[in-house]
Amino acid sequence: MNRPKYESLVRNSVQGVIIHRFFKPLLVNPVWAEMMGVESIDDFLDSGSVLDVIPKEYHVDALDRCEKVLRGEAIGESHIIENIRLDGEKRFFNIYDHAINWEGEPALEVVVVDVTDKVVAQKELAYRADHDSLTNLLNRDALYKWIKEHCHDVKSMGCILFDIDNFKNVNDNYGHQVGDSVLKNLSSIIHKQVDDHGVVGRWGGEEFIIFLTESTEKFSYELAEKIRLACEKSTLSSQFGDIKNTLSIGVSFTDNFSSTMPKDLIRIADEKMYISKKSGKNKVT
Ligand code: GH3
Ligand code: MG
Ligand code: MG
Repeated sequence: MNRPKYESLVRNSVQGVIIHRFFKPLLVNPVWAEMMGVESIDDFLDSGSVLDVIPKEYHVDALDRCEKVLRGEAIGESHIIENIRLDGEKRFFNIYDHAINWEGEPALEVVVVDVTDKVVAQKELAYRADHDSLTNLLNRDALYKWIKEHCHDVKSMGCILFDIDNFKNVNDNYGHQVGDSVLKNLSSIIHKQVDDHGVVGRWGGEEFIIFLTESTEKFSYELAEKIRLACEKSTLSSQFGDIKNTLSIGVSFTDNFSSTMPKDLIRIADEKMYISKKSGKNKVT
C-alpha cells in the first residue's frame, strides 16, 4: 500500500495507532492522541517520546521488547499494559505491536484499544472473590490461598483466632444492622493492629483469624493481648447508645511450619479460644 493511502487509513482508524522507532514517534493518529491526552500531534511528533506515556517502572521492559521486535526476534502480539496519559491519568490498554517497514527502516506499529473499564471490572471481581463483602477482610478460601502462596520457606507461624463474646445479644437487642456495624468496627481494629506482621481474615460469622509469618510465640501472644485490649476499650456509638464488645482469643504457634499443617494450627487456636470462653470470656489463651 502506498504511503498516502496507508496514512489516510490510519488517520481514520477507530483504534489508536502510533508508529515509532525506539519511542521516537513517526506517525500518530487522532484516536491515539486523544487516548493519551496529547494536545498537539505536531508538537508530539516534534519533541515527544512514547516513553512519556509509559510508567517509569516499565521502561526497561518496553525498551527490551522494542529492540526484539525491531530486530525481528519477537513476533507481533497483543497484551494489556498500563499507560499513563500526559495529564497523569493511568489507564489500561490492549496493545498489538509489530514491526513494519517505515521509510526503508524497521519501525514499530502499535495498535491500541482502551480496555480500562474491562480491567477495572476484572480487578473488582477478583477482589470480591477474595474478600468478605461486609468487613473487606480476606475470606476463608483466600486465606488458604495466601498461606499456599506466601509460606513455602516460612519457618515459624503464629495463628490467632478471635470470637466476639455474646454477639448474638447485639443482634437480638439492637438488630442485625447494628450487629453488622460491630463486625465492621472490630474487624477494622484487628486489621490496623496486624499492620504488616501477617494476614487477617474473616473466618466465619463473628470469628476472625490472623496468621503471623516469621513471628515468635511471645509476639503472637502480645499482639493477641493488644487486640483484646483495643477492642475492650473501643465503643461504637449507635442510636441505642454506646455499644461495647469483647473478644475471646486462642493463640497457637509453631517454629516448624514446614511439617505443621495449617489446619492443625487452626484447630489448636480454636481449642484455646474455647478455653478463653469457658474461663469467663474477654481473654487470651
Ligand atoms: P459466645 O460468646 O459464646 O461466642 O456467644 P455468641 O452470641 O457470640 O455466639 P453465637 O454462636 O451464639 O452467636 C453468633 C451470632 O453471630 C449468631 C449469628 O446470627 C451472628 N452473625 C453471624 N454472622 C453475622 C453477620 O454477618 N452479621 C450479623 N449482624 N450477625 C451475624
Ligand atoms: Mg462463634
Ligand atoms: Mg461469639
